Amino acid sequence: MNKLSDDLIYLGLTTIARIYEGKAQEAEKNNLSYTDYLAQIVEEEVNTKIQASIQRKVKSARFPIIKTIDSFDFNWPKSVSRKQIQRLLTLEFIKRKENIIILGPPGLGKTHLATAIAYHSCQHRFSTLFTTAIDIVNNLYAGIVDNTFLKKMKSYTRPSLLVIDELGYLPLDKKGADLLFQIIDKRYEQGSIILTTNLAFKNWNKIFGDNTTASAVIDRLAHHSELISITGDSYRLKDKRKRDQLEEE
Ligand code: ADP
Ligand code: MG
Repeated sequence: MNKLSDDLIYLGLTTIARIYEGKAQEAEKNNLSYTDYLAQIVEEEVNTKIQASIQRKVKSARFPIIKTIDSFDFNWPKSVSRKQIQRLLTLEFIKRKENIIILGPPGLGKTHLATAIAYHSCQHRFSTLFTTAIDIVNNLYAGIVDNTFLKKMKSYTRPSLLVIDELGYLPLDKKGADLLFQIIDKRYEQGSIILTTNLAFKNWNKIFGDNTTASAVIDRLAHHSELISITGDSYRLKDKRKRDQLEEE
């Protein structure tokens, strides 16, 4: 190790430390100016750091499975507008701290879309967390017991984008409804939420136990929000139907 290497590593410029010698020889061969050589090695350092940061964002988002928009079939179901999704993928909604509500019956790609948008948000280095409504409630409940409540609250309020998947599959008890309300209230105009649900707003009293809590949640969530309403037949069943048809033929 020479002094330059040591200094670069001290500054955290590990990529430059690794490549500067080889690149210097290349630069000499190609008659590169000092500044061009410097620009080249600095760019590589920056690119490596950006990639590492994206990897960290994806890891801390805790996706159960990664899905991308490239694998989303816009011909099924027909009701999803490619234009709308492409506009959402500009991620302006995150900068404006707005929400996306994805509504539809099971198997229609709600989780897929939410994951794809959130994965895209990681690629643009927004802090992102993927979770389900039930996990939030269970986790906060556990936090009350083991005195980590505030820390757990923060983990849901801090990210620029929070995905709350599967609201509505299980009803919440009074305390659970209140805990979920607290998260939605704290994030109101502070950070974006993508929420997926199988239940239309008018049925949310079934999830939250009463009309008052349901209205309070809808009020905050829907104020600055965009609705993606998916209708049609399940994507899973679509493949099954195709198989059945082939077997019949
Ligand atoms: P939901 O959350 O609405 O119940 P999912 O997003 O879990 O549905 O979708 C079920 C399965 O079908 C997943 O494997 C998903 O990737 C796939 N899927 C659903 N819709 C589409 C689509 N339009 N294009 C590609 N795959 C889809
Ligand atoms: Mg789902």
